[in-house]
Amino acid sequence: MSGLVLKNLRLLEPEVGELRDGLQIRLEGDRVVEVGPAVKGEAVLDCGGRVVMPGLIDCHVHVTLSDVMIPNLEKVPLTLGTARAARLMRGMLDRGFTTVRDTGGADWGLRQAVEEGAIAGPRLFIAGQAIGPTGGHSDPRRRTDVFGRRCHCCDMMRFGMAVADGVSQMRQSVREQMRQGADQIKIMMSGGVASPYDPLDSLQLATDEIAVAVEEAHAFGRYVCAHAYTPEAITRAAKAGVRTIEHGNLIDEASARLMAEKGMYLIANLVTYYAMRERAAQFGMNSDMLAKNDMVIDGGLRSLEICKRAGVKVAYGTDLLGALQEEQSREFLLRREVLSPIEVIRAATTIAAEVIRMAGKLGTLRPGAFADLLVLDSDPLADFGVFQEQGAHIAAIMKGGRFHKNRL
Ligand SMILES: [Zn+2]
Repeated sequence: MSGLVLKNLRLLEPEVGELRDGLQIRLEGDRVVEVGPAVKGEAVLDCGGRVVMPGLIDCHVHVTLSDVMIPNLEKVPLTLGTARAARLMRGMLDRGFTTVRDTGGADWGLRQAVEEGAIAGPRLFIAGQAIGPTGGHSDPRRRTDVFGRRCHCCDMMRFGMAVADGVSQMRQSVREQMRQGADQIKIMMSGGVASPYDPLDSLQLATDEIAVAVEEAHAFGRYVCAHAYTPEAITRAAKAGVRTIEHGNLIDEASARLMAEKGMYLIANLVTYYAMRERAAQFGMNSDMLAKNDMVIDGGLRSLEICKRAGVKVAYGTDLLGALQEEQSREFLLRREVLSPIEVIRAATTIAAEVIRMAGKLGTLRPGAFADLLVLDSDPLADFGVFQEQGAHIAAIMKGGRFHKNRL
């Protein structure tokens, strides 16, 4: 028998939901191959009675948005922006996030850099550029940019956003993202906090534009995720065949029921609104943006309760910008106010794996899954403090069978 055996551990398999003693785990290559009471292998790692669980998954990040004020990315060259993205991704992996879903900005180059080991970071599931209409949440122009778009070929605004108006432009833009290796297509259905000109409750994209995005994504074997806050925006997305709603803070009972009927997922991200309220002014966010932030912050916890009642699965997301990304694990603490510990952990493991269509391969340690795992100093079911302080309480972090960190 070859491979590494982990022993003397308490296994937290999120699907099971409670700690189990007396099990050992054998890894081979990048996979889990055996879980049982007496497992044999070449090498042994004694986990010292610690909790072992699958690596965490964050379903809404932006690794290229290295500035809280997105327009500042115009002043960031591609080299500096890539280096900053590498630092942000390393921070995520340090905190135990072995997989992240980027919802606008990360490209196939960054994904390949992680796969090649050139950057220490989580597995990346990318959207390429987020697509919205002229004047919408993904239109990066200033009001003084009247004559078309400024060229962003040489700055970090290049990756994040695309503008498409009408069915044919949308069709082309979706196809372009997929040509660039997108795992999911991101579209903008309503206004946003970090964009200066669009009202939060504005409806963005027409129904035929949404429908064509879904049609093209499905034709290519991909799916559409939609930025949406209001019940109207969520309902339009649901009716057009969108698979996941991002944010959804202002969701109501009726739109949640519709999402449940359609088997959709909500990717909530509460922490970004708290972090922006507390700290974004110091990074230059203006009062118009912070006023929009106040409109949605109270809806966050309520959205989790509404979705639970309606039977909508909610995945873990954070959506933090720039320096605020260090608060990624605080989302655990916020959700704990209305959900049980295992419900929050499932959002960041099993449910998140369903969202990225990797159920059984990520978010679990059953045989056949990737060997993405954490060895924790204390029990997360008792206290989410174990995920805080930038991973200080995580004794070991493994991704694809290789240790990113091991102090056992
Ligand atoms: Zn986002």
